Amino acid sequence: MALDRKPAPNDLRAFWMPFTSNRQFKAAPRMLVSAKDMHYTAADGREILDGTAGLWCCNAGHCRPKITEAVQNQVAELDYAPAFQMGHPLAFELANRLVDIAPDGIDHAFYCNSGSEAVDTALKIALAYHRARGEGTRTRLIGRERGYHGVGFGGISVGGIVNNRRFFGSLLAGVDHLPHTHLPENVFTKGQPEHGANLADDLERIVALHGAETIAAVIVEPMAGSTGVLMPPKGYLERLREITRKHGILLIFDEVITGFGRLGSPFAAQHFGVTPDMITCAKGLTNGVIPMGAVLTSGAIHDAFMTGPEHVIELFHGYTYSGNPVACAAGIATLDTYEDEGLLTRAAELDQHWQEALHGLRDLPHVIDIRNMGLIGAVELKGIDGQPGKRAFDAFLKAYEAGILIRVTGDTIAMSPPLIISKAQIDELIGKLAEVLKAID
Ligand code: PMP
Repeated sequence: MALDRKPAPNDLRAFWMPFTSNRQFKAAPRMLVSAKDMHYTAADGREILDGTAGLWCCNAGHCRPKITEAVQNQVAELDYAPAFQMGHPLAFELANRLVDIAPDGIDHAFYCNSGSEAVDTALKIALAYHRARGEGTRTRLIGRERGYHGVGFGGISVGGIVNNRRFFGSLLAGVDHLPHTHLPENVFTKGQPEHGANLADDLERIVALHGAETIAAVIVEPMAGSTGVLMPPKGYLERLREITRKHGILLIFDEVITGFGRLGSPFAAQHFGVTPDMITCAKGLTNGVIPMGAVLTSGAIHDAFMTGPEHVIELFHGYTYSGNPVACAAGIATLDTYEDEGLLTRAAELDQHWQEALHGLRDLPHVIDIRNMGLIGAVELKGIDGQPGKRAFDAFLKAYEAGILIRVTGDTIAMSPPLIISKAQIDELIGKLAEVLKAID
C-alpha cells in the first residue's frame, strides 16, 4: 500500500482477520457498527439479534451503562499501573470478588489478558507447582480430543482440534489426549447425556503407561464449547476428579466459556458439583468489553509457592497488562451487573424454555443432533459430502441475513445468547433459525 496516500477507511485489505475466510468476508463484508443489550446494528442499519453473546463473552448483553461508565471513569483516573512489584486497589478488589463466587477452596486469582493466556498460565503454574514441591518429574500434560484451549503453544498442544494443530510444527512434547465424550448413543439428549462416564477411565491407561509421577495436570472444558457444545456425560467429571486426586495429578477446568453464569451457576464447577484445582476464565469476566483473563487456583497451589525468602519473586510469570486497572474496573462493574440482575443463575431459570425451543427444531431438514444445557445449545447438521462445514456456514450466512447472529463450528450451529435474553427473544431466535434451516440446501 502506498505510504504517500491515506487509504480509504473502507479499504479492507490491510486487516488480516483471525479465524476468518478473509477472501469470502472481504467480498461481502458483515460489519457491525453499534450494539445495545440483545442487539447489534449492522452497517446497513439492520438490527441483528445476538444469539452468541458476541464470541460467548457478552453475558450481560451489550453497552451496559454500569460497565461503560466504570471503564470511562477508570481510563480518566488511573489508566495504567505497572503490573510487577506495584499494585493498585482494583486488582485486589476484583480478585476477592472472583474467589468469592468461585467454588469453595478456590482462593486466588492470577491475571492475564485472554483465554489463551489463562490456559498457558495454568499449565505453567501446574508444572512449577510440582517442581516447588520436589516433584519435578511431573511434566506431562493431558488434554482431550475435541478440546479447545485457545491458540497459545500450550493451548494448541493440549487442545484436540486437528486444524488448530497440524500447521504449527511439533508443539509441546509429553502431551497425551483423553478421548472426547461425543457418543452417537447420546444424540438428542436434553441436558447431560447418560452414556460415557467410563471414558474418564482412559486416564488410568495413560497413568499406567507413563507412571503417575510423570503427570502434572489434566485440562478439560467441563462443557466443550468451541468444538460443537459437547456435554459431559453424567458421572464423567466426578470420575476424572477421583482419578486425578488418587494420582496427585492437578485437574484444570477451562471455564473460558462456561464461567460467569452460562450453565446457571457462576462456574460450571458448581453446576456439576466438581471442584478442580484451577479454573481458567476470560470472556464474561469483563463482559467482553476489555480483554482480560484469569487463572483461579486452590490455596494449596498458591501456598506451595510462598515458601522461599520473602524478597524473591515466587512465580516467574506475568504480563505487562496483568490486572490492568481499566480491565479490573470493567471486571468489577461486570460482576456488579451480574449480581444486581441475578444473571449468574438466570440460565437455570431459562433452561427449560431454551431446551424446549431448541429441541423443537428436531424434525427440520438436515438436523442430526441437538444438545443443550443452561443457556447454551447446539444444532448439528448433516454435512454435505465432500464439503464439511459448508451447510452450517450457509446457515450462518442466511441467519445473518435473517437478522440473527449464530456461530458455526464444522457442521454444528452453536448458540449462547446473552443471559439477559427474554423468553420472547429466545422464541424469535429459534423461530428465525427454523426458517433458515428450511431455506438451506
Ligand atoms: N479456552 C476456551 C474453552 C475457549 O472457549 C476459548 C475461546 N473460545 C479460549 C480458551 C481462548 O480464549 P481467547 O480467544 O480469549 O484467547
